[in-house]
Amino acid sequence: MLLSVIVPCFNEEENVSYFYEELMKNKDFFEEKNLDLELIYVDDGSSDGTVKEVKELKKAHDEVRLISFSRNFGKEAAIYAGFQKSKGDYVVMMDADLQDPPSLLPEMFKYIDEGYDSVATRRVSRKGEPPIRSFFARQFYKLMNKISKTEIVDGARDYRLMKREVVDAILSMGEYNRFSKGIFGWVGYKTKWIEYENVERVKGETKWSFWSLFAYSVEGIIAFSTAPLTFVSLLGVVFCLLAFGLILFVLIRAIFWKDPTSGWQSLVCIISLISGVQLLCIGIVGQYLSKTYLEVKNRPKYIVKEEI
Ligand code: UDP
Ligand code: MG
Repeated sequence: MLLSVIVPCFNEEENVSYFYEELMKNKDFFEEKNLDLELIYVDDGSSDGTVKEVKELKKAHDEVRLISFSRNFGKEAAIYAGFQKSKGDYVVMMDADLQDPPSLLPEMFKYIDEGYDSVATRRVSRKGEPPIRSFFARQFYKLMNKISKTEIVDGARDYRLMKREVVDAILSMGEYNRFSKGIFGWVGYKTKWIEYENVERVKGETKWSFWSLFAYSVEGIIAFSTAPLTFVSLLGVVFCLLAFGLILFVLIRAIFWKDPTSGWQSLVCIISLISGVQLLCIGIVGQYLSKTYLEVKNRPKYIVKEEI
């Protein structure tokens, strides 16, 4: 049996060989289970020495593979590429910064042996993370689970061990705007969740700013829910009803009390409010349209510059 380990790397030169060492602490376990290994580093257009490091590692260890992108395509593209290029009967993906501890692998395999198709991980604490980030992350998961039918678990990591059939199912979802946490949930299969305390990144810095996370969450909502569109339609209905009420009010007042010039201030307020709401709604529709536009173009999700 072959196990593919997929590691997306974006400027992780300090972590490449360190990750290898940590993973290999499971060597006895791999041997005992008769597992061959292929370790795929997906270099997501790093500008530092990541590629050099991987090549260096490859010289000493034959099971190392490198896929190098022509530019930074994002972690989602790196995951997809890793899945596509992997040949393993089992596939696991882990971050290069060791926030996904390789020491959990034996436990994960235990559940695969028990008959689960995939073993997913979630962190139970968010310690070491800025408090506002944690707060917004929690709100995001709450909202997401209200408006989407796909289950998206709070604190879920992308760290997952899967059987080949699950990976093939994920690959069959060829969308351009990829939100893995949703895709994993969407394909289903019998999944065991295991929990662990948050581990801080060993070296280097996180690649996600608050705003890039915000953009990612919008991506998630648009990819897995059309609730915002329903909300927009409802808002339209509410404002129509309100307008009808106002028309009646103005008509009746004009007929019985004759006061043609009063009320212009309120008119200005109403016009501003409604035009604001309209722009908001067009914006929401625009978000869906822009994602659809990108899907329709059908561009490749990544471009490989070098593969070893
Ligand atoms: N990553 C990537 N492409 C990107 C950003 C990140 O391949 O554009 C990789 C990164 O090298 C790491 C993993 O995705 O292995 C998780 O990134 P990071 O640790 O910065 O995110 P965090 O753990 O802070 O959520
Ligand atoms: Mg990290």
